[in-house]
Amino acid sequence: MTEASTMRIAFLGLGHMGLPMAQNLVAAGHEVHGFDLMPAAIEAAQAAGIPVAASGADAVADADVVITMFPAGRHVIDAYRTELLAAARPGTLFIESSTIAVDEARAAHALALAAGHRNIDAPVSGGVVGAENGTLAFMVGGSDEDFAAALPVLEVMGKRIVHCGGPGLGQAAKVCNNMVLAVSQIAVAEAFVLGERLGLEHQALFDVVSQASGQCWSITTNCPVPGPVPTSPANRDYQPGFAGSLMAKDLGLALQAIEQTSTDARMGRLAQQLYAAYADGEGATRDFSGIITDIRDGRV
Ligand code: NAD
Repeated sequence: MTEASTMRIAFLGLGHMGLPMAQNLVAAGHEVHGFDLMPAAIEAAQAAGIPVAASGADAVADADVVITMFPAGRHVIDAYRTELLAAARPGTLFIESSTIAVDEARAAHALALAAGHRNIDAPVSGGVVGAENGTLAFMVGGSDEDFAAALPVLEVMGKRIVHCGGPGLGQAAKVCNNMVLAVSQIAVAEAFVLGERLGLEHQALFDVVSQASGQCWSITTNCPVPGPVPTSPANRDYQPGFAGSLMAKDLGLALQAIEQTSTDARMGRLAQQLYAAYADGEGATRDFSGIITDIRDGRV
């Protein structure tokens, strides 16, 4: 791990992910100034010991590093344009960790550079548990120099940090990974439902696939039927985990990238349709592995 000296860090977006990430930065001795638009998020942050600034502009004014963890790309572009870039000192390092479209990440990067700042995209995987435990995976797009400058900060919040290439390529890696995940989770669900109809016990199918060429995270960790993997969401009525609505959001970004690049990604397109339908119903709040119920019942 790289040794981190104390830095002044503005942390904007203190929601499900941002709050525990900011807490880890405080615990590591950094001087953190948080901000969120929602009073409830501000109160929760103050209760958790995070100093909260009066506005986004105030939070970034003295910062060495600005981290944003917002719901979507439009929030990032709006905040960069209207407030943050003008308020920060020249040369501030902006770490954009929200999950946003590749072209939005590149637009944010261009805006930051035009305003005299530095910027990397650094989306995460690992969910709220990873954020709390400081074990997130970061996928980073940006220059070698900016990646090196961000690394000591990212290492406080994450345990696997991969420099994927230039601007936007962290988001590109994230969208590609989640497309693989969605397709494999659907394939595993279909296999269990088909097995049920052929008279195959869940445990028997698990014992075979988890040790054979069909092995993947969607069965070995996120097994969509109760029993074989006691810690999987299927054993707690599909409480997330990773909600179907978040998977649907990420597949919407994948679809955008598929269309912009004219890529023949039929499985990815189909996964996007199935998860959009699932997220319209129970998947709004249930784990994305719960799509097996809709597949079994013919609802997606
Ligand atoms: P969230 O909605 O809980 O938190 C986002 C926060 O940003 C909100 O509190 C909102 O008020 C705040 N915000 C919006 N605009 C702002 C602005 N201009 N200034 C200050 N605050 C502002 O969302 P989350 O679950 O924490 O997710 C954040 C991002 O991380 C999303 O892009 C999501 O896709 C991604 N992500 C989430 C998970 C997860 O499991 N929740 C996992 C991986 C990635």
